Amino acid sequence: MAEETIFSKIIRQEIPTPLLYQDDLVTAFSDIAPKAKVHILIVPNELIATANDIEAEHEQVIGRMYTVAKRLAKEQGIDQSGYRLIMNCNDHGGQEVYHIHLHLLGGEPLGPLLAK
Ligand code: AMP
Repeated sequence: MAEETIFSKIIRQEIPTPLLYQDDLVTAFSDIAPKAKVHILIVPNELIATANDIEAEHEQVIGRMYTVAKRLAKEQGIDQSGYRLIMNCNDHGGQEVYHIHLHLLGGEPLGPLLAK
């Protein structure tokens, strides 16, 4: 069983982070260290540690993460200008928090996918 991260405490509001969205499956809040003008994290309420741990039983929650991302992009006024959705996995992917999350990034041109 994976260890809880700070995201579980945010989801349960044990750490009072303003939420941009929450339902029975997912929670969204602003990234604490934004890498773009808009940088929101969409997180499953249930702890799934990495993309490698996504199973068939998670298909509903993974789908919800994307429909919520789309909704937040519209709310933020970046749906037409465009945005990027990223999920990092493990060391080479640059994953820091081991509770999967979609990064919703936009509000300005984001440049090439990878800076090397
Ligand atoms: P990743 O590298 O894909 O695991 O992304 C983790 C993200 O979580 C980083 O962009 C961090 O800035 C962000 N983060 C870490 N702690 C918090 C927090 N308490 N509230 C909001 N975002 C956080």
